[in-house]
Amino acid sequence: MAADTRLTNTQQWEALYTYKHAIALYSTQDIILEMANDAMLAFWGRDRSIIGLPLDVALPEIKDQPFVSMMREVLNTGIDNIGKAIRADLEVNGTLQTFYFDYEYRAIKNAAGETYCVMHTAEDVTEEVLGKEAIRVSQERQVALEREKALNEELASANEELNAINEELKETQLRLSDLNNELEERVLSRTKALVLSEAKAYSLNEELATTNKDLVSLNEELASSNEEMLASNEELISTNEELNDTQRILSTTVSQLELSQSRFQNLVREANIGIIVLVGEDLRVEIVNKTYGKLIERSVNELLGQKLFDIIPEAEASFRPVITNVLLTGETLYLYDVPYLVYNNGNKIEGFLNLVYQPYIDDDQSITGVIVLCQDVTEQVHAKFKLESAYDQLRLSKEAAQLGFFDLDLVNVTLEWDDRCRLLFGISHKDVITYEKDFINGLHIEDRERILSIINTAFNKSVSNGVYDVEYRTVGAEDEQLRWVRAKGQVYFDDKDTPVRFIGSVLEITEQKEDEQRKNDFIGMVSHELKTPLTSMKGYLQLLKSKAQKNQDVFTANVLEKSNNQINKMTTLINGFLNVSRLESGKIYIDKQVFNIVNLLKEIEEEFIATASSHHIVFGSVSETIIYADRDKIGQVINNLLSNAVKYSPAGSTIKVACVTADNKAMVTVQDEGMGIDPKDIDRLFERYYRVDSNNMTAISGFGIGLYLSSEIIERHDGTIGVDSLLGKGSTFWFTLPVSQA
Ligand code: ADP
Repeated sequence: MAADTRLTNTQQWEALYTYKHAIALYSTQDIILEMANDAMLAFWGRDRSIIGLPLDVALPEIKDQPFVSMMREVLNTGIDNIGKAIRADLEVNGTLQTFYFDYEYRAIKNAAGETYCVMHTAEDVTEEVLGKEAIRVSQERQVALEREKALNEELASANEELNAINEELKETQLRLSDLNNELEERVLSRTKALVLSEAKAYSLNEELATTNKDLVSLNEELASSNEEMLASNEELISTNEELNDTQRILSTTVSQLELSQSRFQNLVREANIGIIVLVGEDLRVEIVNKTYGKLIERSVNELLGQKLFDIIPEAEASFRPVITNVLLTGETLYLYDVPYLVYNNGNKIEGFLNLVYQPYIDDDQSITGVIVLCQDVTEQVHAKFKLESAYDQLRLSKEAAQLGFFDLDLVNVTLEWDDRCRLLFGISHKDVITYEKDFINGLHIEDRERILSIINTAFNKSVSNGVYDVEYRTVGAEDEQLRWVRAKGQVYFDDKDTPVRFIGSVLEITEQKEDEQRKNDFIGMVSHELKTPLTSMKGYLQLLKSKAQKNQDVFTANVLEKSNNQINKMTTLINGFLNVSRLESGKIYIDKQVFNIVNLLKEIEEEFIATASSHHIVFGSVSETIIYADRDKIGQVINNLLSNAVKYSPAGSTIKVACVTADNKAMVTVQDEGMGIDPKDIDRLFERYYRVDSNNMTAISGFGIGLYLSSEIIERHDGTIGVDSLLGKGSTFWFTLPVSQA
């Protein structure tokens, strides 16, 4: 229950300090922290002892962050600075942590328009931002992995191309040497033939003298031998041509090979993935690119031709065994998120890598080394760690808050409940659960229709923004226990406004509800007990008043009249409390009768015109309207709306009361020219004990039960109650009731 006392200065400050939204105030060019409430201090992980210090002394870690100069700018220009998801690195619990805040720096000005302080409000959105970051990192990682895969494939196909060209080259060389052999043989055999023919000619010449016939035949033989030689020469020429052709093929093959090799080298040099080729027992660097060099902060020239582990001996223990393994098995090895730590001139260089080790295969198919591809994934791994710790924090705070979670996937029609959520519906198993069987059946029969209709509304994008905030009872599926639950959630829509997902949390509030019940019982009892003495006091006062009037004691009669008014006020208040407690325990009775609302309004008009002289109250003319309702309770509602109009609008302003009928509904309106209501408060105005939290309200007393009672009464008459309001301009409260058909 709220206290009915004015706040002291300290209490006002305390209220600000304990207000759940983070606030702080700063002044002067030094940005002195004049005030920071507990919520703000909690963001910073500090206590109130830092108040009074310049902000950058209070939070030394923000020295190189932009906040102090941003505030100074607001102070000097008088222009507010409002922004979303700004990053702040704060030392909370001794460690520097990154947070993201939606913030407002507002210039607070004096009457002369000078800014004399900056008001800072903030909301922690770290979790949202990290969630987005995690998705981005995982997408980037996916892209990087795909790029790596594509590069691998390109390398493999370049290797294949090289191998094919090598094969071709070998074949060509073989053919070439065959041709050479053949050529040699032919030259040799022709030379032999020639020598033989000459020898023959010689012996024939000797025989010339003896046989002419022989001469002729010898001549013929010579001629044929000549012919043979000619043919042999021709053959020689054609063999030469063939040789030339082969040489041409050889030279194009060689230039193709060079082209392919330079392509391969370019590929390696330009790749934004680190590539190093190590050959031989001692793992000398045969090929390396700039990207690899960068990873260990060395230039390509420093590395080429060197033994890798002479340069980074500290990495040998972890990486040599992997390389040995690849050399032995000839199998490609993939490693992910591998930490590495090397030194350069005493500077520590560390990070995380995704690695691919491929055997480097020589012409004769033997493994002579390894090709290592390295991708720097340090940032991704760090983000992953951060995300894991954020999830841990979330899990811990969820456990500490005893929150249960639900997730309804409307596309695949699946429902997920965590253990806590299951517990609140009296379910101990971990089997699949469904919306119909477990959720709907688990709702208390008296709450079922109301909750399902609220959910249906939340699923309808045209009438709701998907926000869900309700209280209901469950009856345990296994233990049949009754539990009170507060559920909050959000419905997500696709681009066609179809609801696709419904996520939220549940909290058990059985104990609070029971406390409330006890409190209501107590209020009911006390109010009831107070009523009797008040009634008799009223009677005595009236007696005294008529006596004083009889004695013409005007002064006493006046004082008694005032006392009577005070007692009336108290009676209204106590009746209010009594009604609330009756409502809560379902003991409010509506006693309906047929009556003309015109007469009721007339009575109220007379009463008000007599008592509320501070305002112009104008009752519009009303045509006869017969309704079937509880006359007293409807009177109470109108009285309440009218007293609020008087309470929340300045003296001398006008209040208009009217009643019109349309579509078989009578609508009563009470219109004022008062302070009006902020749209953010309108939805909650009709809640029990709800009062608007604003500066204008501090001087106006109340308990926030009038509108609650009014709305309960109207609802029980199948009517509607509401308000249209403009902040600073005024409000029109209205309610409708069905017109009696009889
Ligand atoms: P109470 O007036 O006792 O605080 P009510 O339930 O009657 O309780 O009203 C709830 C709140 O609604 C009030 O505290 C006030 O902030 C706001 N309110 C009600 N009527 C008006 C009005 N006519 N103009 C502005 N604010 C109003």
